[in-house]
Amino acid sequence: MSADLLALDARHVWHPFTQSATAGVPLVAASGHGATLVTEDGRELLDLVSSWWVNLHGHAHPAIVEAVARQAATLEQVIFADFTHRPAVELAARLAGHLPGDLDRVFFSDDGSTAVEVALKMALQYWRNVGQPGRDRFIGFEGGYHGDTVGAMSAGRASGFFSAWEGLLFPVETVPFPATWDGDDQVAAREAAALDALDRAFAAQPGRVAAVIAEPLIQGAGGMRMCRPSFLAAVAERVRAEGALLILDEVMTGFGRTGPLFACLKAGITPDLVCLSKGITGGFLPMAATVARESIHQAFLGASLDVAFLHGHSYTANPLGCAAGLASLDLLEGADCTARRAAIEAIHRDRLDDLARRGRVGRTRLCGTVAACTVGDGGAGYGAAIGPKIKAAALGRGLLLRPLGDVLYLLPPYCVTDAELHRAWDGIDAILAELAG
Ligand SMILES: *Cc1c(COP(=O)(O)O)cnc(C)c1O
Repeated sequence: MSADLLALDARHVWHPFTQSATAGVPLVAASGHGATLVTEDGRELLDLVSSWWVNLHGHAHPAIVEAVARQAATLEQVIFADFTHRPAVELAARLAGHLPGDLDRVFFSDDGSTAVEVALKMALQYWRNVGQPGRDRFIGFEGGYHGDTVGAMSAGRASGFFSAWEGLLFPVETVPFPATWDGDDQVAAREAAALDALDRAFAAQPGRVAAVIAEPLIQGAGGMRMCRPSFLAAVAERVRAEGALLILDEVMTGFGRTGPLFACLKAGITPDLVCLSKGITGGFLPMAATVARESIHQAFLGASLDVAFLHGHSYTANPLGCAAGLASLDLLEGADCTARRAAIEAIHRDRLDDLARRGRVGRTRLCGTVAACTVGDGGAGYGAAIGPKIKAAALGRGLLLRPLGDVLYLLPPYCVTDAELHRAWDGIDAILAELAG
């Protein structure tokens, strides 16, 4: 049965981020429960990447299944101009309630990339609307990743994934990101250099920067590179002093990944625009939100359509996504989920320290439920051969891991049990021993 399906897949499906000429046969996922994925041939895999960082509470979580089913039988979709609906309004209000300051105005879209596009477009039009159209430049961070649409690629161009489309991208200046790890005693100097670079970038084009965009605390796709909260706070202060806007891309860090519900809370800062997606529906439906400070939104009010934000998507604020988002928030706000996140962090800490002590891994780092380290000789970067080897060995042990080059990371759903997480780390320990020996 799977053979027929795979033949059809090979003939008709184009998979993302995949070189189909050399890629192995894909696994056929049939179902999921908790942190486990089950394939058609009955294999069970522990999903340690939360299915590309979207799943929060486990696969097919009954509470979210229920909420989506109920909503689907009631109202599956409605045009969101001239209409509103209860799930969208409630979700917007609850997101605003969790975000700091006057981050009160929620614009819905479809995925992380569109959340970023919306933020970039809002920033530019904001300056035009307030009579400063000269503020039309963006600054990002080296190693930043913001998605695969044209504007998002431009903002993340330093990630190096986009050479085929270089000609399409608009210029975005980048400054260094002072990634750090356990026992790093050089971080203060790197932070100072990064802040100097930001100062110089501002000084070279006074009054021209529309916004600075950053992944707060963790650069995900760039290799789970982590910075200190105090660095982010220093960036926010400088952006504020320059008068530019700060866009935080919390597409990966949002919804509890770094500990608190949002990374900006951990850093104690209030950005002007926040991009949310991935975990927003608990991993059930594609949806995103760009949340703006009310003071930004005010600049789009006026008598003419010209100052309005003329942007939207067919499925904007899809009721099923909103219903899933509300059910996911119910779970996130519960004491159980907070306790689970703390337990995951504690186990990560122990196991990372143990591996580091025995010299199995380098540059260990941890932020909330995200643990990362380098494997192999280090420095091999994204093309490192060890990544695919670990991935294959892990699959053999029933573990779904996707190292980013020589960076091994764990980003499990919050429902993962202590026993499951220890099994994952035991497996990693054994795989690293095999590869070393
Ligand atoms: C995944 C990701 C995106 C892009 O989201 P998509 O849903 O894949 O378009 C943007 N920013 C960050 C930080 C991400 O991790």
